[in-house]
Amino acid sequence: MRRVLVTGAAGFVGHHLARYLVARGYWVRGADLVSPRFEPTAAHEFLRVDLRRWEDCQTVTRGIDEVYHLAADMGGIGYITAYHAEVARNNVLINTHMLEAARENSVRRFFFASSACVYPQGRQSTADVTPLREEDAYPADPEEGYGWEKLFTEKLCQYYAEDFGLQTRVARFHNVYGPVGIYEGGREKAPAAICRKVVLARNGEEIEVWGDGQQTRSFMYVDDCVEGIFRLMQSEYRAPLNLGTDRLVTVDELVDLICGMAGKHLAKRHDPGKPQGVRGRNSDNSRLRQVLGWEPAISLEDGLERTYRWIEDELRKAGGLPAPTKVG
Ligand code: NAD
Repeated sequence: MRRVLVTGAAGFVGHHLARYLVARGYWVRGADLVSPRFEPTAAHEFLRVDLRRWEDCQTVTRGIDEVYHLAADMGGIGYITAYHAEVARNNVLINTHMLEAARENSVRRFFFASSACVYPQGRQSTADVTPLREEDAYPADPEEGYGWEKLFTEKLCQYYAEDFGLQTRVARFHNVYGPVGIYEGGREKAPAAICRKVVLARNGEEIEVWGDGQQTRSFMYVDDCVEGIFRLMQSEYRAPLNLGTDRLVTVDELVDLICGMAGKHLAKRHDPGKPQGVRGRNSDNSRLRQVLGWEPAISLEDGLERTYRWIEDELRKAGGLPAPTKVG
């Protein structure tokens, strides 16, 4: 049985990935700073560790054939714009220690979860943005803090491959969403935050939307993300690869889709003072199609429906749903 490590296994993507790998017959060790929050992990073994610490990275990589490295100090746009120093420092520590420990323990292959935040901000200044190709990352001008740290670690993966023969694989995720992910508290991303606001609003009420609602993104359902990670790990492609969809939607369209599936008519109160990140961002999937012969296919409608219902269930269990509006 091949032995694999998933770091960040209590986090959103890591939790889904651990389940996927167990279902494929791998022996899985999960590692995270915290325990899984919403449901038990599928991993065979789960270690509570702090991967900023060198010794903890040595421990988790021992006896492991392949590493799926997803642990990171991260959150939605509000979080990553508020904590540049902490996010960059924590993640540089985690990533450098994880790569070196993987090398020391003779790990064969190492996956790194990078981000669309590595792309230059100047290429993302209009809502009607040109989709980003992998080579557009240079000349570099990534998102402050989080984006620089991801771009640096992409390079570190390349150096470890060149100098030490560690087989590294790097995917740049574009806005992953889905059930069993954080939806409140400040670290949640736009789809989860909007689902929560719509669940909690009564029909006819108003919800706050960050920015003017015309900023654009593409969104990938978590099952597609996990499938893409696995396919990239099986491939011989060594350079960073986009992993996302190329369907561009505005944040207002996202709100309308979610309201539609909730059966609610809600007014939007835009707050341009809130962080919104770059104006527009989309993935160019030409290379993804060429390299993997595959691309994410779960529709935004299907994915949002599953996400919305899960968040609604969670809030219902917590007793947080508003009483239905009286009719007549
Ligand atoms: P997440 O925040 O849900 O999961 C990350 C996990 O890492 C958390 O459970 C956290 O506790 C853990 N972690 C943080 N610091 C740690 C430490 N010092 N030691 C051990 N564990 C630690 O994030 P996610 O959405 O699952 O993202 C997974 C990866 O994908 C991250 O590397 C992230 O940067 C990247 N990514 C995600 C998205 C997205 O839209 N979700 C987009 C681009 C890139």
